[in-house]
Amino acid sequence: MFDQLAESLESAWVKLRGKDKIKSSNIQDALKEVRRALLSADVNVQVVTNFVKEVETKAQGANVVSGVRPDQQFIKIVYDELVKTMGETNSPLANASTKPTVILMAGLQGAGKTTATAKLALHLRKENRTALMVATDVYRPAAIDQLITLGKQIDVPVFDMGTDANPVEIARQGIAKARELGVDTVIVDTAGRLQIDDRMMTELADVKAAIQPDEILLVVDSAIGQEAANVTMTFHDRIGITGAILTKLDGDTRGGAALSVRAISGQPIKFVGVGEKVEALQPFYPERMASRILGMGDVLTLVEKAQEDFDIADAAKLTEKIIEARFDFNDFIKQMRLLKNMGSLGGLLKMIPGMGKLSDGQLKQGEDQLKKAEAMIQSMTKEERGNPDLLASTPSRRRRIAKGCGYSESDVSKLISEFTRMRSMMQQMSMGNFPGMGGGQPG
Ligand code: GDP
Repeated sequence: MFDQLAESLESAWVKLRGKDKIKSSNIQDALKEVRRALLSADVNVQVVTNFVKEVETKAQGANVVSGVRPDQQFIKIVYDELVKTMGETNSPLANASTKPTVILMAGLQGAGKTTATAKLALHLRKENRTALMVATDVYRPAAIDQLITLGKQIDVPVFDMGTDANPVEIARQGIAKARELGVDTVIVDTAGRLQIDDRMMTELADVKAAIQPDEILLVVDSAIGQEAANVTMTFHDRIGITGAILTKLDGDTRGGAALSVRAISGQPIKFVGVGEKVEALQPFYPERMASRILGMGDVLTLVEKAQEDFDIADAAKLTEKIIEARFDFNDFIKQMRLLKNMGSLGGLLKMIPGMGKLSDGQLKQGEDQLKKAEAMIQSMTKEERGNPDLLASTPSRRRRIAKGCGYSESDVSKLISEFTRMRSMMQQMSMGNFPGMGGGQPG
């Protein structure tokens, strides 16, 4: 389903291709596509409307960054807004100064509450925090057994009073037990219903009042899509959640829930469930979820890096130098360092669609060549770097450079002749001539 959203957004990008400035008029189609895609992914209508409005405001008047296509830049704007809507950063779990930290779990039946309770206890154990799980679902005997079984599996104690006791009383005594045991955190699992019903909400509110939790986590099945908005709204109105756990993201799930929960409640999604096993819990990272929704994470990284590194004024000067064949070794090394700042050449090339096919061996070879060239250029004098033609005509200079960097004289000669060839090729290309293709304007 995430793929479907990415696909429909992609058709919006296509419409932006070739534009040099992002304007309100040329993004209307793309915005419509974003809206349609999010709605079809079951994001709440109001959330979608606000989202699209924000994107439009952000995108208008954005200058197109040199070296970045406007459609890619638009993706970045949509991406940033997705991240913002989902909460910017990962929010950690409450850790109260007065022990124990009390976590109340809430959610519909089948959402994955009991499983999430155990997952959370295991997560805490890995962080060297101790936990006690409390079973208050007296309506389904199987639920208590399930928690006890999970507790044994992960070696975390479970407190229960069977099915005859009152959930509020169980919760209260559970907290007392946690104090007695001296554990850091107590996680109270509660009863769910297939649908929101008033009795469940009242009981939950009573449990909350009795135990004053530090954290109330709403467990939401990501597969319920549009319904996630209603569920979030109801639970938040009645008991005031402090966060959410989005489950079953390993399945064929729609993106809507992730976006809606945060936008409706204003509370962060803290974890995601990615499988039935107790280990299958991960912290929620808005960036990752946004990339997953867009399905184009690597392109985004590339745009981000280009925006950080590319100096527009520099680019204009460079073009001028290329046209006048004044591109020298200083420019060459600057470009090379720019590439390096953007990560490994191999990593960089792999981000470009269609370039991922280069083998690791080929990429490594390219990187080695660049390293070798850099060593030779470093052995040149300032004068030589600024005037590569000096080197073409003076063998003694080439000999000195070879000695300085430890490569052979023929290596140095090869670098110079390749550089000269590259310079003239770049000059021709910048003027619209494509060497080896019969010259003249392309297309
Ligand atoms: P509860 O009624 O809310 O307590 O839900 P349960 O914890 O009993 O979970 C309901 C079903 O969903 C069980 O079969 C779980 O194994 C399954 N489940 C829970 N979390 C996940 C998850 O993240 N991924 C998958 N695939 N299944 C999950």
